[in-house]
Amino acid sequence: MGEAQSALFPNYARYPFTFVKGEGSRLWDENGKEYLDLMCGLAVTNLGHAPKQVTERLKEQVDTLWHTSNLFHIPGQERLAQLLVENSCTDAVFFCNSGAEANEAAIKIARRYYQKVINQPERYEIITFNMSFHGRTLATLTATGQDKVKEGFSPLPEGFVYAPYNDADAVEKLITGKTCAIMLELVQGEGGVIPADPDFVKAVANLCERHGLLLILDEIQTGIGRTGKLFAYEHFGIEPDLVTLAKGLGSGMPIGALLGKEKLRTAFAAGSHGTTFGGNYLSTAAGLATLETMLQENVSERAAEMGSYIMSELKSRLAGNPLVETIRGLGMLIGIQLTGSGAELIKSIHEQGVLVVPAGPNVIRLAPSLLISKEDIDRGLDTICQTLAKAAAAAV
Ligand SMILES: *Cc1c(COP(=O)(O)O)cnc(C)c1O
Repeated sequence: MGEAQSALFPNYARYPFTFVKGEGSRLWDENGKEYLDLMCGLAVTNLGHAPKQVTERLKEQVDTLWHTSNLFHIPGQERLAQLLVENSCTDAVFFCNSGAEANEAAIKIARRYYQKVINQPERYEIITFNMSFHGRTLATLTATGQDKVKEGFSPLPEGFVYAPYNDADAVEKLITGKTCAIMLELVQGEGGVIPADPDFVKAVANLCERHGLLLILDEIQTGIGRTGKLFAYEHFGIEPDLVTLAKGLGSGMPIGALLGKEKLRTAFAAGSHGTTFGGNYLSTAAGLATLETMLQENVSERAAEMGSYIMSELKSRLAGNPLVETIRGLGMLIGIQLTGSGAELIKSIHEQGVLVVPAGPNVIRLAPSLLISKEDIDRGLDTICQTLAKAAAAAV
């Protein structure tokens, strides 16, 4: 169907594919053509498409009960929260339906903690980072350090300031009597797959400690095994006060979560925050099945191994390619930084049946299933590296 006839708002620039079936790292379009998926619906289907461990639990739940609202206890929600706190440095969980909502909840609880728990209402400002991405609600797009998501949406909410990424001295200079929190991605995903320097992360955690600020980690893209640990913060030897999750948590069922340390529990008293669908029977069944599988099958460890395999293969096979500036990432979230635009290269890779996705204009992003086979990785790498080699040869 032509875009002009669509009944949808044109707010997405879509690739010209329509998929009708998925299994593991494979997708099939409406003509039966098979694709190798190295992007996972934007780092969402971490266990692959329609993973058995999740579909079985979902089917059971679909036949039993979908929704009652948060006016009642929801056993799956309690169990998923329990599993998240047992496997993180946090103590309490709030469920919502998306990443933006999880970050919105983080921003709200940070402010409310200062206003209602420790009685310092003058502290409401949150430091975030240039090129960060935190979502599309008014508060989270304001938190986002990219102007393009803000255009046409003024007036924006107050209370956000921006520091250059990987520059702890600049962060320190922005801390004032108004600051309440620092909000950070440990790998900037949408901003171009840019990993944080370990020293920078430690310094930011120290600043939070010294100045009594809350450390909010946006692990919406990096969480749930993506970087080779269940949470990316485990790589850095720090403990955040708040962590947000979404993408990989439900294997594609819409679910988001805010995880917080004990001291934050009373900041969200009854009636202070909520959402109708948050943590319902279906989304928490998917979340539980996903997380249990991750833990039981040591999926994070596998992601670490496969991620370093992909990284070293890319580094050796693309060495000397003049179109490639650098290759970087953490675990199975990997970016190929090009010297110019990636759009045509991505189009060509797609046409050869391999799905990758940009992260900004000049980066090809790989976020394959954490369970993808080595054969599939090799096939995907062949296509990517040969495409880049041909393009480099054609450019001279
Ligand atoms: C995708 C993403 C979000 C937004 O999540 P939505 O579910 O699209 O609202 C926020 N932060 C990061 C780091 C993300 O990758």
